[in-house]
Formats: sequence, C-alpha cells, structure tokens
Amino acid sequence: MTISERDLKVIWHPFTQAKTAAHPVAIVKAEGCWLFDENGNKYLDATSSWWVNAHGHSHPYIVKKITEQIEQLDHIIFAGFTHEPAVKLAERLIEKLNGNYSRIFYSDNGSTSVEVALKMAFQYYANVGAPRKKIIALKNAYHGDTFGAMSVGERNAFSAPFNDLLFNVHFIDAPKQSNREEIIHQFNVLISEKNTAAFIFEPLVQGANGMKMYDAKTLSELIKICKLNNIITIADEVFTGFYRTGKAFAKDYLSEQPDIICLSKTLTGGTLPLGVTVAPEFIYNAFLSNDKLKTFFHGHSFTANPLSCTAALASLDLLEEEKCLNNIDFISKKHIEFKARIKHHPKILEARTLGTILAIELNTNEESGYLNPISEKITPYFLNKSIYLRPLGNVIYFTPPYTISEEELNIVYDAIDEWLRIN
Ligand SMILES: *Cc1c(COP(=O)(O)O)cnc(C)c1O
Repeated sequence: MTISERDLKVIWHPFTQAKTAAHPVAIVKAEGCWLFDENGNKYLDATSSWWVNAHGHSHPYIVKKITEQIEQLDHIIFAGFTHEPAVKLAERLIEKLNGNYSRIFYSDNGSTSVEVALKMAFQYYANVGAPRKKIIALKNAYHGDTFGAMSVGERNAFSAPFNDLLFNVHFIDAPKQSNREEIIHQFNVLISEKNTAAFIFEPLVQGANGMKMYDAKTLSELIKICKLNNIITIADEVFTGFYRTGKAFAKDYLSEQPDIICLSKTLTGGTLPLGVTVAPEFIYNAFLSNDKLKTFFHGHSFTANPLSCTAALASLDLLEEEKCLNNIDFISKKHIEFKARIKHHPKILEARTLGTILAIELNTNEESGYLNPISEKITPYFLNKSIYLRPLGNVIYFTPPYTISEEELNIVYDAIDEWLRIN
C-alpha cells in the first residue's frame, strides 16, 4: 500500500472534508522550492507550505543549526529554567522590531500567540484594578482556530458550530481611505463605553480572507485613537511578519506602533512550530506584584523549545543576508509586473499585491469566499502542471519562499496565465 492509501485509514486532516476530498499527496522529500511525492512527481511549492516557508525546504544552514542544537539540549521546562537560544532570540526580535517592545512570551503556534495576547490584555486591566471586557476586531478577520482566536475572528463557516460559545466582539470594516470617516466615527462610538480592552487586527493584509488588503494610514489613525484612550492594540503578524509584505513587519508601514505583536509561521523559516507574543514594559509591569493572583498563569509544555528557537535564529541569519533581502525585492517587482499584465483580464475581479504576496480574485458566477467551488478545480489543474497552489475559494494566491528563482517565478506566472486563457 502507498503512504497515501494507508493515510486514508488512520489520519484526520485539517480543513478537509474527507468524504469528498481528493486523496492526499504523500510527500517524501522537499528541497528548495520543490516538493517530491511518493510516485516520483515534483511540485513547486507556490504557497510556502501554508505561508510558513522562507528559505526553501530543508535549508542546509537551518538543518545544521538544529542538528547541533539537538545534540546539545533538546528541550527543557521553561518555568524556573532558561537557555541561550530563547534569550538570544528574544534579544534579536526586540532589536529587529525596533520599537517600544521589551518582553517576549513564547508559545507554540499562531493561534496560541493570539490567545496569549488577548489574555495579557484582559488581565492587564484586571491587574490594574479597572477590568475591561470588550475587544474590537475587523470584519472578515482570521486569528486562528482556538476559542479566543475564533472569538475575535469573523463568524463564518469555520466557526458556525461554535458561534454561541464565542465571546462577544465588536467588528468594524477594514479601514480604507473610502470609509475613513465612517470607521473613525464608529470606532469613537464603540470606545465611548470605556469598556474596550483591546483592538486586534491583521495589519494591512487579511490573509485567510483571501489576501484582502487595506489602508496603512487609517489603521495608524485608529491605533492613535487607542493610545489616547488607553486601549491596547494587538497586531497579529502571524502571516505578515518576517518580510512577507516586503518590509520586516507590516507594522513598519504604519506611523503608529501597536502595543502587542503576535508572530509565528515564518518565524522559524517554516521549519518548526513556534509562537511569540511581544509585549511592552508597561504591560509586563502590571503583572509584577507580591499578589500571586497577578501572575500570568499561561504556558505550554513546549514553550520556548530550544530547537524551534534555534531554527528561528538561523532563519533570521539568512533573512538578514543581502541576497535574501534583494530577492524579496525582486519577487515584489515581478509580482507588480505580473499584476499589471493580467489585471484587466475579464475573469479577474481584482488582482492585489504587497511584497511577496500576489492574489488574484476570480470572477465566478458564485459568491466570493472560501467555499466557492472553483477552488476544487484549481488545485488539481496546477498539480498537473507540477505546481502546488491552494486557493482561498475564488482567490488564487502566490506566496513563494524568498529563495525562489526568476525561472521558478515564471513557471507559476505562465501557468496562471494559461489557466486564465483556457478555463
Ligand atoms: C495562520 C494564522 C493564525 C493561526 O496560526 P496557526 O499557527 O495556524 O495556529 C493566526 N493569525 C493569522 C493572521 C494567521 O494567518
């Protein structure tokens, strides 16, 4: 039996309707931008394996660093103990974030980094003796699949079975130049209750919502209003962090800096799971007390895993090489060129790009969104062309590893072109 056939008997896959889904493709090896399956086929990883990969797969430098680390220290409890990779990574992240940040809290993934941020915000207000209960979030947001993260996300097909179990959140439209006044007015009305603990957002790009992009200027204005009203701002950079948008962090496009930042995905170059919640000193200070109840009682078994921290350090080394930064710029330019070439195509509702992200929203006769059936045709079509693309409903997106070559970029652009022509 093949791996794929054995899988069908024992595995429950994420985000997959197993009754109707195509059989899973068993990957036996990955190198650079290429995935190799058990039947000898190869596929260009045009999604960076769910938005995580930065330097191509099994990059020898990261492999070497992880190998050295596991021979030295595999894992230890992170309460009462510490280690060099965790401290070093915290030092480097704080420097790289280049703002009013002073504390790194580790967890395991993007959803937990968001849970931690929300719990920090709620408990901050409890600890200072002025509890606040409301969160403001953006419509169509995605912040992960655990309960807190689902609560601050859009109520949609993903959350439907749980909607009445989620806590109440105020949702506002993503801020744009066109709705600026309306959004600012609405925001001011919402916060006039004085019960708002935090405003959470995916800065500039709503990834899971189909790579929808919005305005840095109005977002900066909202952050400023939060500062003036003592409301904690949380930037969920789980997707946008580490140059995905062209700059180191999407917050680097803003004129006002968020208080808390959530990081994961590309943090380790896409090799090992790790989540980070970055906090400023004023929040950390509110948890310092002789009263034990003010402690932040949150942690995971694998918090600050030394191998994950080492992978993140190695990924930062590679990210900061001129070669990598140049290629990120190159990808951004090529995306802009390709967008200009196709944007007036009659099958396209809108083409969007920012940094290494290219998104093409297709005009279908069905409703836009994740459940648009066209996605089921797209993945097999491109797999057949040796490309792995996984659309978000009617949005085809291309978020390559930063090491992708011009030739490899063109393979994907040409295939998208052809798909538009013949489908
Ligand atoms: C993917 C994602 C998450 C969830 O991260 P996981 O590691 O999948 O739990 C949270 N926020 C954003 C913006 C994401 O794109």
